[in-house]
Amino acid sequence: MSLILYNTLTRRKEAFQPLNPARVTMYVCGPTVYSYAHIGNARPPVVFDVLHRLLKSRYGQVAYARNITDVDDKINAAAKAQGAPITAITDKFADIYRQDMAALGVLPPTAEPHATAHMAEIIAMVERLIASGHAYAAEGHVLFHVPAFAAYGQLSGRNMDDMIAGARVDVAPYKKDPADFVLWKPSSPDLPGWDSPWGRGRPGWHIECSAMIEKVLGPTIDIHGGGNDLIFPHHENEVAQSTCAHNGAPLARFWLHNGFLTMDKEKMSKSLGNVLLVNEILKTAPGEAIRWALLSAHYRQPLDWSDDLIAQSKKTLDRLYLALDQVKHIVAANTGAPAAVITALDDDLNTPIAMAEMAHLVRALNSATTDAEKAKLKAELLATGAMLGVLQQDPATWLKGDVSSSGVDAAEVESLIAQRNAARKARDFKEADRLRDAITALGVVIEDRADGTSWRMAG
Ligand code: AMP
Ligand code: ZN
Repeated sequence: MSLILYNTLTRRKEAFQPLNPARVTMYVCGPTVYSYAHIGNARPPVVFDVLHRLLKSRYGQVAYARNITDVDDKINAAAKAQGAPITAITDKFADIYRQDMAALGVLPPTAEPHATAHMAEIIAMVERLIASGHAYAAEGHVLFHVPAFAAYGQLSGRNMDDMIAGARVDVAPYKKDPADFVLWKPSSPDLPGWDSPWGRGRPGWHIECSAMIEKVLGPTIDIHGGGNDLIFPHHENEVAQSTCAHNGAPLARFWLHNGFLTMDKEKMSKSLGNVLLVNEILKTAPGEAIRWALLSAHYRQPLDWSDDLIAQSKKTLDRLYLALDQVKHIVAANTGAPAAVITALDDDLNTPIAMAEMAHLVRALNSATTDAEKAKLKAELLATGAMLGVLQQDPATWLKGDVSSSGVDAAEVESLIAQRNAARKARDFKEADRLRDAITALGVVIEDRADGTSWRMAG
């Protein structure tokens, strides 16, 4: 069994072996906390959460850092627009982000470094880059000198001419080369700033990640991830900074990038204004259904979001939970996820195939006749769910989950069921039937079993 991952750096699938199996290291670029995360922003944390779970199951110790970018011009603009202090904005949206991700079943990373808590490390790395001749100070700015790093462009596969053409948009008089990028910039008194050898200022976005990775995980990490829009310039610049600050030691051995989430085939982004916020979707759909939808396409493929996708995801999970509810009295066997699921995830995290395997397991479970068979299939289903971060709820709770949004009063349902059972006991079948009709009219399905009557909302 070997995990194969597509590495953006080499543009092919490669067998993954950690540098140190006793401590696998992974870093994913996290949110800039100035507003709510949209569902596209949730794709990287959910996808890399599956990888986090897979690595944990295989190696035990995984050091996984996902940063919080809490210094950024968009944050400054939001604070100004709302007349609020910067930290009021960043604290609020970092909290909301954590809650939203938890609702999507994303396990907390092992470290959540904040840029503002790493100013000393950022300044020290910039100083090292100046000392080694890879960066220079000019007019209160410090710039990375791109021609000083021969391998620049290797990650994104861009050639120097293309990059210079792109960088011309951003020509500043203090740049030695149009492709040079900012490591440090001056702050006016009304903006957040930190004292540095180049005056009061703040870091550029790219250097934040390089400095935090070094501090939290080390000079060379196993896996670096993010959305594919980050390959250039963000990740290309991270590579340049870290490699030059580390005498040529690579920043990351594997670079993984997720494809974009689209709506009506158009990329979802704040600038296009076609965003759906995670926080809003969570009011109308359970977190696991949203997660299922996010994992329904292979992570490198585009994923088109729609109401139908989320409705289908919810229906599929209903089927899985219903099957689990039917075997709630059967103790799960001591079995892990089936080989087909492991094989799928080992093949560059093929979640759609792993999810199709769950459908097979459910069909087998629903037609299983012996308790031993049911115990094995139940265990396989639950273990697969744990790897994908779904089926984490009590089936009965899930199946009643629509109660709050349906306007049905659970106490009323329970009371009608109790009355119906009393009527049946008294052999008043007419009254029992009337009560059953009243329950059905609420959109509730009941099922009589040896151990009592269970109920759920009709699907
Ligand atoms: P941003 O807020 O634009 O910096 O994005 C934060 C993270 O979300 C980055 O890792 C982006 O690559 C990712 N991201 C943004 N929009 C999308 C999208 N529509 N689909 C997938 N990932 C996205
Ligand atoms: Zn980054």
